[in-house]
Amino acid sequence: MENKYKILFFFLSISFSTRGQSFTELKLMERHAWYPIIIKSAQKKQYIDSPSRILEIIGNAYYYARKYDSAILFFNLAISKDSNSLSLTSVINLESSYFLNNQQERGKTRLKTIAKKNGIDSFVSSFIYGRLGLLYLNINKPDSAIFYLEKSVISKNIKLIRNYYYYLARAYLLNRNIDFCMKILKKLDSSVYYPYDKLSKILYDSINSTQNYKYNLFNPSDPKWKMISGDKITYFFDDTIQSNKNANVYILEHEKAYNKIDSIFHSDPPSKLTMYVCSSMRGQADGISVGHTDPIANVCYVGRWQTIGHEITHAISYWGWGYRPVKLCRLINEGLSVTFDMQVNDKIINGKNALIGCRIQSIIDIWDYFPEQGTIPVLNDADYYAIAGAFVSYLYGKCTRDQFEKIVKNQSIDNIYFVLGRENFSNIINDFNATYMYK
Ligand SMILES: [Zn+2]
Repeated sequence: MENKYKILFFFLSISFSTRGQSFTELKLMERHAWYPIIIKSAQKKQYIDSPSRILEIIGNAYYYARKYDSAILFFNLAISKDSNSLSLTSVINLESSYFLNNQQERGKTRLKTIAKKNGIDSFVSSFIYGRLGLLYLNINKPDSAIFYLEKSVISKNIKLIRNYYYYLARAYLLNRNIDFCMKILKKLDSSVYYPYDKLSKILYDSINSTQNYKYNLFNPSDPKWKMISGDKITYFFDDTIQSNKNANVYILEHEKAYNKIDSIFHSDPPSKLTMYVCSSMRGQADGISVGHTDPIANVCYVGRWQTIGHEITHAISYWGWGYRPVKLCRLINEGLSVTFDMQVNDKIINGKNALIGCRIQSIIDIWDYFPEQGTIPVLNDADYYAIAGAFVSYLYGKCTRDQFEKIVKNQSIDNIYFVLGRENFSNIINDFNATYMYK
């Protein structure tokens, strides 16, 4: 760790043990999504007399950690100090907390009131309607989700609404309204950012891949799926007896992998992981190409041919340490899944082999690489994954557990520089490049 960060962390840990954190310290932690540390501090200290802006940060930390009753408590404490104190985000998080804490009516009414006050075309309303739509999508009410998401995408602020388009498409799909789903997906262009670009493409491809596409392809109540409930995962098989690996062996291996991977990420997903296991590259012959994870829904769609741990790691790391990531980047995200795929092989050697012939100057060049955006020689997915796996395995060996958590939860380069220290991370990259890129 670079010296000045050593000093900073030393300072933070001292202040942590002797008094409540200052606003600046808490704000810094909030910016880097260190919610568990904020919460730990809040549990130790009496914050009742703190200024409202500190109470607000604690409320937000509880919100992102999905501890809604505590979030409500701290937000209301902040309001009682100063009724106009909360930022818009915090107001929305408060109302969302009511909603998710089974006080739906209260949350809904409050969000609607804020929206009304701000006028329907404003940035603010669009954001709020989007959030309302998302909340309804979360509780599986696509009709209401569509109603609000349609209102939110009226806004001309493309940056704000592009992800709401994705959720709107999902809501239509959930409602089995394929035509509208397609229409919305077509509006999404390359401006949509990761992971929505990838997710939208999966949705689009899956719908496109067959003319008589049916959303109920992965309908758990369809008798073609044989449901077997494991301890950690609920499995749906399209073929429980495959010549070399029957369902029992498959389940045993995957439950074991789940526990092993979870001992690294300490996940706390909102629901038990669901896994559709397909015997072919496509789900049930006529449908979706498998080999992806929808972490928000906590569902993996896997093929029998896949490694045991890859998709499980996507789901577990997303819900790692009990809160959602601030930012995912492809190199780290896929690298994690390769690193913990439970294959007994040398990730570094695989990465080295994949690098032969690619004229990549630095691992930094392919941080968020997608073939269609590439300016360097096109990398196929297999090579990209192998390189990502090598880098993340290497990086994993250089981090403390605490640093690792922070990197998994915010995978942007800026954050990793911050967490590891600029000099230290530069050295790690240079060492990796020098040792593995040109040999
Ligand atoms: Zn993957």
